[in-house]
Amino acid sequence: MGNVKEQPSMRDRTYREVVDGDYLTQKQYKTMAISLCVTHFLFEFMYLWLGCIPMVIINVVSIFSYIVSYIYLQRGKTFTTVYIMLSEVFFHAIFASIFLGMACGFQLWLFGTLASVFLPFYIPDLARKQKKQILVFSAFIIATFIVLTVMNNMGLFLTYYNVDPAIAKVMYCCNACLGFGAIIFYTSIYNFRLAYKNLELQRAADHDFLTGIYNRQRIQKILDAEIQRENEQSHENSLSVAIADIDFFKKINDTYGHLVGDDALKELTSIFSGKLDSGLLYGRWGGEEFLLIAPENMPFSKFTDMLEEIRKQVEGNEFESGGHNVKFTISIGAASYEKGMTAEQLVNLADDKLYNAKETGRNKIVY
Ligand code: GH3
Ligand code: MG
Ligand code: MG
Repeated sequence: MGNVKEQPSMRDRTYREVVDGDYLTQKQYKTMAISLCVTHFLFEFMYLWLGCIPMVIINVVSIFSYIVSYIYLQRGKTFTTVYIMLSEVFFHAIFASIFLGMACGFQLWLFGTLASVFLPFYIPDLARKQKKQILVFSAFIIATFIVLTVMNNMGLFLTYYNVDPAIAKVMYCCNACLGFGAIIFYTSIYNFRLAYKNLELQRAADHDFLTGIYNRQRIQKILDAEIQRENEQSHENSLSVAIADIDFFKKINDTYGHLVGDDALKELTSIFSGKLDSGLLYGRWGGEEFLLIAPENMPFSKFTDMLEEIRKQVEGNEFESGGHNVKFTISIGAASYEKGMTAEQLVNLADDKLYNAKETGRNKIVY
């Protein structure tokens, strides 16, 4: 493998989506820019009240940076915006700590900054260069916090603009809430996003992409669990399964094209879905073959009645696709579980019956 070149990821828009911050949506970033802009507008009055002229000026730059961020967001430049916003918080925290005094706790914002740099962006999909940038930025934030603390302890900062100790105490509490609040905010979004992606992956792994019903892997697992239950407990009615197969499906594809064939598969699954309420389980077993598992404790005779209803419904159904009115039929093989059978044996038994249905004229159920 050795020298495999990196994928041309920028050509792949699904990849860009991950890299370019689908962490927050464009709308959420905009809300963030606006609310931070408003917050800094209020800060302006606070700095004026405190009489700290340097912070009054620095804060104007902060307000301006959020206006620029908003404009960049309008142009879809999310990544640049994130850089601007993070830099603003970073530098504002440093200057506020220096001018107003460390007792006000503005340095605690750096904890939030670190969380907002690291959690959203240090993800496995990210290119090595960007990962490095984030690591460097993170290290820089930690180093800044340490340097600020050490310099302050050594008495190296001017104290001219330092605020009254009583006010500083209140500000320290507020800044601690903001700094740690940012950690909670980013961690929870991170967890929610991860959980959501997991659900999405789980769904994709369990479902057939075309029809949206259970795929073979999932329906097989369900069948295995049902068989295990049959072996462990005794029931009034044993488990029944069936395999349904579209008749002359190849001909549908050949006559109308594959897309119409695909629609026929979807049409059939929507007919199956009419029996969901009664507890029928089903999944795509192969191309145009479906495995159906009878509702719990349903007698075999009731199950075959249900299958007959489905067969009739398919026979009477006509759907429109690609400008054609299409009809098709299905053949079904059904079998009932007998003590000691494996899942494979039960399915094979149903498959034999299906073969029999095909051999003896199709559009019928054999059991
Ligand atoms: P029989 O009545 O004996 O079942 O005949 P048949 O034509 O239905 O069966 P055959 O096994 O000869 O053909 C099945 C066809 O199903 C062949 C394959 O191209 C098609 N097929 C499998 N999966 C899909 C799919 O996802 N979409 C479409 N459109 N066709 C598919
Ligand atoms: Mg077929
Ligand atoms: Mg088939």
